[in-house]
Amino acid sequence: MHNNNIMTAITFDKSLEIQQLPYPDRKPKDAIVRVTMTGICNTDLEITKGYVPGFSGVLGHEFIGIVQEAKDITLIGKRCTAEINFGCGVCNYCTNGLERHCPHRSVLGIINQQGCFADYVSVPEKSLVHIPDEISNRRAIFIEPLAAALEILDQVTITKRTKVLLLGDGKLGLLIGYMLASTGCNLTVVGKHRHKLNYLVATSARIVQRDSFAEDIYDVVVEATGNSSALTMAMNCIKPRGTIVLKSTYAQDMQFNPSQLVVNEVSLIGSRCGQFSKAIDFLLHNNIPLEDMIDGEFSLAQGIEAFEFSSRPKTIKTILVP
Ligand SMILES: [Zn+2]
Ligand SMILES: [Zn+2]
Repeated sequence: MHNNNIMTAITFDKSLEIQQLPYPDRKPKDAIVRVTMTGICNTDLEITKGYVPGFSGVLGHEFIGIVQEAKDITLIGKRCTAEINFGCGVCNYCTNGLERHCPHRSVLGIINQQGCFADYVSVPEKSLVHIPDEISNRRAIFIEPLAAALEILDQVTITKRTKVLLLGDGKLGLLIGYMLASTGCNLTVVGKHRHKLNYLVATSARIVQRDSFAEDIYDVVVEATGNSSALTMAMNCIKPRGTIVLKSTYAQDMQFNPSQLVVNEVSLIGSRCGQFSKAIDFLLHNNIPLEDMIDGEFSLAQGIEAFEFSSRPKTIKTILVP
């Protein structure tokens, strides 16, 4: 299946490189997956900017592939993706289904685990998630970020009567927009880019360009811009006892006076990764044209170009096809 045991990979070690690496060795509890599609995420861009210290090696955590080698032979040939947080399996978090908070975890292409921007990737067999035939590759590539978007619903109660403000129209922002709109809540989405906001036109969301946004009061504000100034806007728009959800990681430290949170008894919560099973369920029950968000497609060998393309402010989702 693999030529001369050599594969192409996009690696990072102070700079981005395309390398020829040996086909991964399968550790006893791992499966080897032949990668058929991968997606570039903001986290990948942030690693290349030095935002995630200490990572070097093969980048990438969003992928779909065909299982090549596994202990459970019924998995071989199946179309899969994998959960990206690999916990120790024995701590309190791991035994309660919260591997993504295990203090000893490794994270695919982010912490101590070689990623998926390669022809083949090795992942713990138990992290594999089978993708139902009804979900095309170009929709399935959104499972990981969609799970992250859906995590909000695990943390905050949102009903049809909840008035929600979403700040941000990036890749994750749009997924959060689709997800929030599907709840039927009273949703306003504020973003910088008309052409990105337009993806949400067909939903029930009210979409507003940032320049023409008049601040109002909301029950829940979701901050997905990654820009620390948006937190000021979030604080101005949150009702007393409301909830602000921070959905981005921030390249810079943030300075703000928390008195407003105290006086108004506002909850400020962080939100990161979610469960893949919920994302798959969402894709099976919501016919949202996520595939339309893919506006860049490159081979692994074109990885440098792909990263450059993906970091342009106007682009949305870049995929790599080995
Ligand atoms: Zn991601
Ligand atoms: Zn653990």
